[in-house]
This record gives sequence, structure tokens and C-alpha cells, in this order.
Amino acid sequence: MKKIYRACKICKRLTYDSVCPVHGEEKTREDWFGFLIVNNVNSIIANKANIAEPGMYAIKVRS
Ligand SMILES: [Zn+2]
Repeated sequence: MKKIYRACKICKRLTYDSVCPVHGEEKTREDWFGFLIVNNVNSIIANKANIAEPGMYAIKVRS
């Protein structure tokens, strides 16, 4: 079975889990697009996306 990434609607973090590792009860969604890898949280992109931790993020998450 192919694993797909799921995204948290609050922090946009990508995960394999059905709930966000940060937002406990928040269910992650498969309906997202845009793939963002943040290595440097001081970068302009990270600032724009409000990302405070390095990791993989979705750019848009549909509700
Ligand atoms: Zn989250």
C-alpha cells in the first residue's frame, strides 16, 4: 500500500498520521497541495508561511 502524506489544517505540517502530532485532536486531511520543505526557519518563505519549526509542510489545505 502506498503511503500518502496528510496535512494538518492548523499548522500545515505533513504527516502520515491521521491526527496532527502537534495539535493532538486535529484530524489531518488528504486534500492539500503545494509541497514546502523548511530547513531554515529564518528564511523569508518560513516567515511568510508562519513556520517556526523545520520540516515538511503543505502550502494549502482544504477543509
Ligand atoms: Zn497541526
